[in-house]
Amino acid sequence: MKYVYFFGAGKADGLGDMKNLLGGKGAGLAEMTRIGLPVPAGFTITTEACDYFLKHDGKHPKELKAQVKKELTRLEKLTGKKLGDAKDPLLVSVRSGSARSMPGMMETILNLGLNNKSVEGLARATKNERFAYDSYRRFVQMYSSVVIGLPKEDLEERLRAMKNSLGVKDDTQVTAQGWRQLVGEYKAYFKQKTGKDFPEDPEEQLWGAIGAVFNSWMGEKAVTYRRVEKITGLLGTAVNVVQMVFGNTGEESGTGVCFTRDPSTGEKVFFGDFLLNAQGEDVVAGIRTPVHLKELAKSMPKVYKQLEAVRQKLEKHYRDMQDMEFTVESGKLYMLQTRTGKRTAAAAFRMAVDMTNEKLIKVEEALQRISSDDIERLFYPVLDPKLARNELISRKFAEGINAVPGAAVGKAVFTAEEAEKWAAKGEKVVLVRRETSPEDVGGMYVAQGILTATGGKTSHAAVVARGWGKCCIVGAEKIDIDAAAKKMTIGGKVVKEGDWITLDGGDGSVYTGQIELQRPEPPPAYETLMKWADKVRKLGVRTNADTPQDSRVARAMGAEGIGLCRTEHMFFKDFEHPEKSIERQEAIQEMILADTSEARRAALAKLLPFQRRDFIGIFEAMNGLPVTIRLIDPPLHEFVPHDHAKQVELAKKIGISPEAVARRVEQLHEANPMLGHRGCRLCITYPEILEMQVRAIIEAAIDCQKRGVKVLPEIMHPLVLDKKELKILEIATRRVADEIISQAKVKLEYLVGTMIELPRAALLAGQIAEVAEFFSFGTNDLTQTTMGLSRDDAGRFLPEYVDQSKAAIFKDDPFQTLDVEGVGMLINWAIKNGRATRPKLKIGICGEHGGDAESVKFCHTAGMNYVSASPFRVPIARLAAAQAVIEEKQRGKKKK
Ligand code: PEP
Ligand code: MG
Repeated sequence: MKYVYFFGAGKADGLGDMKNLLGGKGAGLAEMTRIGLPVPAGFTITTEACDYFLKHDGKHPKELKAQVKKELTRLEKLTGKKLGDAKDPLLVSVRSGSARSMPGMMETILNLGLNNKSVEGLARATKNERFAYDSYRRFVQMYSSVVIGLPKEDLEERLRAMKNSLGVKDDTQVTAQGWRQLVGEYKAYFKQKTGKDFPEDPEEQLWGAIGAVFNSWMGEKAVTYRRVEKITGLLGTAVNVVQMVFGNTGEESGTGVCFTRDPSTGEKVFFGDFLLNAQGEDVVAGIRTPVHLKELAKSMPKVYKQLEAVRQKLEKHYRDMQDMEFTVESGKLYMLQTRTGKRTAAAAFRMAVDMTNEKLIKVEEALQRISSDDIERLFYPVLDPKLARNELISRKFAEGINAVPGAAVGKAVFTAEEAEKWAAKGEKVVLVRRETSPEDVGGMYVAQGILTATGGKTSHAAVVARGWGKCCIVGAEKIDIDAAAKKMTIGGKVVKEGDWITLDGGDGSVYTGQIELQRPEPPPAYETLMKWADKVRKLGVRTNADTPQDSRVARAMGAEGIGLCRTEHMFFKDFEHPEKSIERQEAIQEMILADTSEARRAALAKLLPFQRRDFIGIFEAMNGLPVTIRLIDPPLHEFVPHDHAKQVELAKKIGISPEAVARRVEQLHEANPMLGHRGCRLCITYPEILEMQVRAIIEAAIDCQKRGVKVLPEIMHPLVLDKKELKILEIATRRVADEIISQAKVKLEYLVGTMIELPRAALLAGQIAEVAEFFSFGTNDLTQTTMGLSRDDAGRFLPEYVDQSKAAIFKDDPFQTLDVEGVGMLINWAIKNGRATRPKLKIGICGEHGGDAESVKFCHTAGMNYVSASPFRVPIARLAAAQAVIEEKQRGKKKK
């Protein structure tokens, strides 16, 4: 088995695409060598060798010794120098390099090969004793801490003491003698701690360093980083042993980092920093401030020209922006690393579009280079990235589930009512609740962000906040929220009403105080790229929107209609005339408390004008596009107050006794409300609700049509479980609708369809399609009912199911990314059987998965007509739908 890959003098054993085996750095060095760039020679030990080492208790595979020896000899021949030589020694760096960039998480050892003899040789060969001993002490220091694990602080302490004794402040002022003395002290300390002499044999040094780099793969930092970044499936780190080049030999030397384009704007300019007379570590340590590359152009014009040529060559070669490290040793340029550069979201869009226009890449590639994260980062506000990490750590209050990204700053309030009161006074608030219910929707609307102690990504709070693109953290279980005392506590820390807090919906962190936010502006390239996506995709993209405002936002985001209008959200808030919200709430509460069908009808009559007005606004906003309106869905108990004081207040308003209110609330109580009297079951038992809602929809549609607005209403029944149930609802729907239409003497087309959100409905889809004109998969409930996982509080244990270092039962949260294997099987079955009955059946999805890129790709493959996503996720769905087409094409090509 080949474990070692050589590169040098224009030839390399490895290739640029062997990242998994050689790591990013190793693959980049091999490729740069092959294309004739100036790269110091060396060799890469593969990630397979690391894997073996970690699995065999620190033993190397038996072939490795001989292979390393052979390539080391080759390196010595090529450079004309020998490791540990007393005259002009070869020195090497030993660096980690994984297939995925893990900056600073693993170990590096520089200047390896120095010992008491070779340091003298180095001093003579460079005619620079100070440089030789400085290099030596750096090596002994690094080796002691990295390979042996001696405490860094002890070593630093000795360095400080030496400087004190010499009466100097900066390292640059230390003489050769000073460094020599420090080496002696380090070695004495080494002996005292380990009982052994510091290794003089360069090969022993080399094997020690290789083992340390391998071990750093399992170091705490690296393991945590991989967990946080969701990096899985890699074998380990490669080790790169490379001839040292020095940027610190004088004014003709230096080191720098550069990008082929500006990584923050995407502009096509050479971008980077350079530090004269310095080594790479000095740049990282931030001891001295680097200068702009322009300075290099002035001080070393020849080197700059050469670097500019490298920039052009590398970008053409990799067809993407590169992030490079280089060193200049006595006027000679060396490339030490190249990798695809990280970039801001705005830069990602600009580069993808510019590179396509420059014909460097094709439209398909441009579309594949953008991720849903890039789109999110483009629209949502974020914490000021310049804020110091320590500052953030010291302000951290709690952690929850990052339900909706973005960030929010406001004063903490603990009830929706307070939120509305404070907001009316012009205050910015963050609403903190144990959980939210539809009752809270007004307060949620005015809040900058929402924080709840319970719930998962499809809980009420999350679904509603997502619709508004509002930062939301749920399931922060450790916070103790005391709404009555207007405060929350965690581990002795307290936040009271009116205290500033900041939410980071990106990672679910809650901070105390007011942290500055930045709101990114979508660049012009965004529009261009989205147009390209629209041309490529086959899936339609609609939106989940409940108000005219949201509908307009969604249309601006590119929505091609409404896939789900949750009508119950209209019962609580009047978005156009907020002062009328109370009237709506009272009407719905009166309807729920009604004892007879007459009383219910009377209450519903009060609601009718409100709903009709909302529908008119939505139809107008969606002029010419289809609008799917779903009839009432949540269990009724969600609409009535549960605390005594509020019950008394309500009783007074509608003129019944508080006991009667309490009794009715008690009657509505269910052990499993999600599996209870909800969905279309409400309209089966209270057909007058259906009558009012259908009337509101059809009257609004007729009103709009008369004024020239093009309406395409689709009436949808939720939680249907079979054909019989849907048939009853369909007959009732058509009876009401057709009567209004014929009385108005107009022609109005409308559809009647169903959600598929119960396994039974999916299984019996063939029969249901005899009645339904369309299906819309409600994958929030379908996931809940298929998996037997509560969408509201599975968040308590789901993280452990998803965590790859724990149970790892799921790859992703099934409420966020569709469970293609299980729930997907039901969906495929339902589509196949539904279309067998009704070939033209219109099929979409309106669960939260409609805005998740991976799930959208599944919907494309499953043959749906459209997906429906919350307004701010519409662009994500548009892009993912295009990527699905491209990926399908690529899979087809591979098969051939
Ligand atoms: C669903 O269940 O997927 C759905 C869209 O309906 P809701 O989230 O309102 O239950
Ligand atoms: Mg549902």
